[in-house]
Amino acid sequence: MPLRGRLAPTPTGYLHVGHARTFAMAAARAAGAGLVLRIEDLDRDRCRPDYTDAAIEDLRWLGFSWTEGPDLGGPHGPYRQSERTGWYLEIWRRLAAERLIYPSPHSRRDVEEAATAPHATPHDDEPVFPATLRPAAWDLPREPGGVAWRFRVPDGRTIEFHDAVAGTVRRTAGVDFGDFVVWRRDDAAAYELAVVADDHAMEIAEVVRGEDLLTSTARQILLYESLGWRPPAWCHVPLVRDSQGRRLAKRAGSLAVRELRRRGLSPADVLSAGEHPPGKPDPVRKPEAQVSLQANRCPVRKPEAQVSLQANRSPV
Ligand code: GLU
Repeated sequence: MPLRGRLAPTPTGYLHVGHARTFAMAAARAAGAGLVLRIEDLDRDRCRPDYTDAAIEDLRWLGFSWTEGPDLGGPHGPYRQSERTGWYLEIWRRLAAERLIYPSPHSRRDVEEAATAPHATPHDDEPVFPATLRPAAWDLPREPGGVAWRFRVPDGRTIEFHDAVAGTVRRTAGVDFGDFVVWRRDDAAAYELAVVADDHAMEIAEVVRGEDLLTSTARQILLYESLGWRPPAWCHVPLVRDSQGRRLAKRAGSLAVRELRRRGLSPADVLSAGEHPPGKPDPVRKPEAQVSLQANRCPVRKPEAQVSLQANRSPV
């Protein structure tokens, strides 16, 4: 059964073949159930309006269509996170009033220095925030006030969830991830808070995104619980990697959708770039595009959704 979904690009660069593949999966799984385009432009320093325009143009060129978004409007707008601060503040107030989050002036460097656990867990590149840096007491201000705020995780609790691709996933609070930032010191909602607030408000029934966010899903489930909301279903798509096994960055240059388009590839070529069968010519024909993926079919339930995604499963 298709489930209402969303495409949630962050406009800090041009979309690449990895985004195209994740979005193809999201669009396929939501076919007929509604698809929201939401622009995740919270990072004022790195997001640019021209990247938003480029993302919309690239998505349209790839053949995706959505039912609500910044260009179409809809009942759940605004569809740019930069315009949703009032809603995020409401959530911040609720969590702060229940003392589930606390002000945390510590920089990433402080965290790395204080961490006794390894800096990065096998699942995530975020150092685990050490419990020693939690404040003993703090006052409840009216506004977040130029300091970062963290969600206090229940140490030792294992969060288990079902993922349409990875199956049963488990992450333990305090081991795989620690207290995480929900509000940034530059006075914007952090990703984890904004995405939960929006997926709930926009009535998203299934979140389809890259597998690099599996640990974030455990964090987000804690937020759903704290807010008394029901979490959506989850589908984390394996990442496209380059020939050295590195994940593609926004600066993926020759693997950017618009660069491939400029080189004359069709939308179908771009969508299949990185999943060409061994021995067959790579439609991209550039060494850095040899993303050599092993077959591992993600479940796409509808026949029209057979976007033939094969993928290399990186360890989760
Ligand atoms: N905006 C995020 C990205 O572009 C995706 C976040 C999500 O899907 O939850 O990587």
